[in-house]
Amino acid sequence: MQYQGKVYRPWMEANSLLIQTTLGCTHNKCTFCDMFREKRFGIRKLENIIKDIDEARQLFPYVGSIFLIDGNVLALKTATLLKVIEKVKSTFDECSKISLYAGLNDLRRKSVQELTELRQAGLNMAYVGLESGDPEVLKHVKKGLTPDQAIAGMKNAKDAGIDVLLSFIFGLGGKERSKEHIVETTNLLNLLEPEEMAPMALAVQPGTELAKEIETGEFIQATPLQILEEEKYLLENLGDFKTFYWGDHSNNIVSSRGRLPDNRQAFLEKIDNAIATHPVTRQHVLTTHAW
Ligand code: SF4
Repeated sequence: MQYQGKVYRPWMEANSLLIQTTLGCTHNKCTFCDMFREKRFGIRKLENIIKDIDEARQLFPYVGSIFLIDGNVLALKTATLLKVIEKVKSTFDECSKISLYAGLNDLRRKSVQELTELRQAGLNMAYVGLESGDPEVLKHVKKGLTPDQAIAGMKNAKDAGIDVLLSFIFGLGGKERSKEHIVETTNLLNLLEPEEMAPMALAVQPGTELAKEIETGEFIQATPLQILEEEKYLLENLGDFKTFYWGDHSNNIVSSRGRLPDNRQAFLEKIDNAIATHPVTRQHVLTTHAW
């Protein structure tokens, strides 16, 4: 099997077989992200993807879940992606979950009919970066996404029956826009009602535009206390829709994982306890790890 360049997968897919289908990200402009800076977006040749799937079959006697990488695999033409998913399904009979990275704009650009075909072929879930629900923050970080586009993309996924995990970033509004960032993000999440969500505290990647903004003072990082207050606001104000909360990313101050709304109170108690007692609240900047 061949992987080109650095590869990434969500931490909840740690046990999945990774099949590299695209290279890089079609957007590649977000100021906080350096995941695919060294790659130009490309699509691997179908014959090479199929070769990898056949080789993986020889290597692994049991594969329960498969994750298609790199960035926004859903940008592939539907006919090509169907061939990949059908090959995965026919090769790994035992595989019960196929997921991929997607952008909300990719979901928006596909028709419900196309997405339904992908779901019927075996695609279960899309991992999608929302980052913020605040239009100002989205613009500042050059996400190339508006809240209206997010709503349209999510509607397509729901109509097609594809589950979506939305990730977003505590602290992305910085010190000055912490409140607006989390209020707008919570409001948008309440409209989108994702099946799963994964918040992460902002990690500043060296060499990114965001790192330069911090150096020049254009962006002042939210304090650890603000990060905790953002999570508290989120948990207090999310609606009662059912979702799975992956708040256990290693950069988060408090680690919470489980169903919402069932665990809302337990998660809030952890946050309140951290706000009251955790020494990190006396620091100006949270120490995080690069992705
Ligand atoms: S955050 Fe996602 S969309 Fe933005 S550059 Fe990185 S991989 Fe691409």
